[in-house]
Amino acid sequence: MPTLTASKKSNRSAVRAGRPAPELILGDLWEFDPAPESADPKLKARYELFIDGKFVAPKGGRYFDSINPANEQKLAEIALAGPADVDAAYAAAQRAYDGVWGKLPGRERAKYLYRIARLLQDRAREFAVAETLDGGKPIKESRDFDVPMAAAHFFYHAGWADKLDYVAPGRKVAPLGVVGQVIPWNFPLLMCAWKLAPALAMGNTVVLKPAETTSITALKLAEIFQDAGLPPGVVNFVTGAGEVGAAVMNHPTPAKIAFTGSTEVGKIIMRGLAGTDKKMTMELGGKAANIVFDDAPIDQAVEGIVNGIFFNQGHVCCAGSRLLVQESVAAKVLAKLKNRIRTLRVGDPMDKNTDIGAINSREQLDKITRLVAAGVKEGGEMFQPACKLPAKGFYFRPTIFSGVSMSSRVAREEIFGPVLSILTFRTVDEAIEKANNTAYGLSAGVWTDKGSRILKMSTELKAGVVWANTYNKFDPTSPFGGYKESGFGREGGRQGLLDYCKLV
Ligand code: NAP
Ligand code: MG
Repeated sequence: MPTLTASKKSNRSAVRAGRPAPELILGDLWEFDPAPESADPKLKARYELFIDGKFVAPKGGRYFDSINPANEQKLAEIALAGPADVDAAYAAAQRAYDGVWGKLPGRERAKYLYRIARLLQDRAREFAVAETLDGGKPIKESRDFDVPMAAAHFFYHAGWADKLDYVAPGRKVAPLGVVGQVIPWNFPLLMCAWKLAPALAMGNTVVLKPAETTSITALKLAEIFQDAGLPPGVVNFVTGAGEVGAAVMNHPTPAKIAFTGSTEVGKIIMRGLAGTDKKMTMELGGKAANIVFDDAPIDQAVEGIVNGIFFNQGHVCCAGSRLLVQESVAAKVLAKLKNRIRTLRVGDPMDKNTDIGAINSREQLDKITRLVAAGVKEGGEMFQPACKLPAKGFYFRPTIFSGVSMSSRVAREEIFGPVLSILTFRTVDEAIEKANNTAYGLSAGVWTDKGSRILKMSTELKAGVVWANTYNKFDPTSPFGGYKESGFGREGGRQGLLDYCKLV
């Protein structure tokens, strides 16, 4: 239960009124009892590769540790795949495609996908805890977003599997064959579902590499595939770092590769595949503008800004990391934002009250720290609440930079952490110009009372997704993907399925 002492009531009323409260430290305003999630994540001490429907030891006999970034303790050992393991995974995928999956009627494939979705729902709490332990995200996010959304992707694509004649009206569609997929660490289970569900619904088979720091929920999903009776080889997981990813992407077998990760690695992969006839989908980085006009519902916008950048520690490709606010309301928005982030709870991701959990790895924490130092050096005015951080583990305070110029690194580079840069504008055209002045184009947000302005902005903004008066809303029916250096191809919806088939 939150407890509020009389002496702190004036602070609370200041916050509610949107006035800057006196300097507070986290816990001054609200004091919550710890509320740790207690479900058993049912982790194994060691996770093998998942090839041809079985868990198999890597041929090289090597393993690496997956740690909990919240306390730096080892969680499990993960098999390190070598080139021979990647070959075995592709051979299994090809056999499964030729022998079973590619020939199975869509209505039969649908039954497996429904079963997988339901089994995931049955084990939802266990998966949420495993995701939070391995990746550091708050339990309330893995419980309320990652796991239900992953199940939703399997349900949605199960619904398509017997209706594929309607994916491209007037045309017949056919699977591509074997697909190679590589995913990042920010939504480990959800990215698996995004990648696997459309590929399988369409009749393809898959070799997928999860990110090195977050392989556990993929390998738990493999247990569900076994329980669902998914034919061996339809999905194969090979684990390891970048070299394994490169082996998956550059292998001769796949007819298509799908990559989600940084623009830098996406470019390396594209160079490697130049000249081949492989189909590609690239879901890369972002530097989204969240644009607040003076007629916006300001309190709602402040919640949207906070959700846009601090959700999942800012480990979100479409994070609203650049706030563009109309000059006349800039001071008001900044004051309200400062007050709001003073109340965010940073700390143990397993606590149900935590808003900002652990940064995924020491490497990522170092990168955020470096870029924030550059922001200070370049003259941005930095604000961080004075919250206490746990002594062990990787944590970073929510951070706001105001007075930022367009050329500053914090306004241009993807930080992939809880760091917001604030810029101002006067006119609609200036907002559009500044929002589009980036190499990326994944997403954007618009906050205004005027429907016509929303339509104009969504037409002019070079971003794959434009949210209006909301932020970070996802749905399996809705295609997601980028412009410019944020990549190409779409995931989700009918458009996402088109990227996993050929028209015949
Ligand atoms: P990353 O470094 O590019 O890694 C992504 C994946 O690629 C990981 O599994 C990584 O393995 C693997 N990899 C590394 N080097 C490789 C190579 N040379 N060839 C093939 N695979 C390779 O990105 P990240 O830091 O994990 O993820 C953050 C990035 O992902 C951000 O830029 C974010 O914007 C982007 N992202 C985009 C979307 C989208 O939908 N557009 C969604 C989520 C994230 P290891 O982890 O083992 O190194
Ligand atoms: Mg981990």
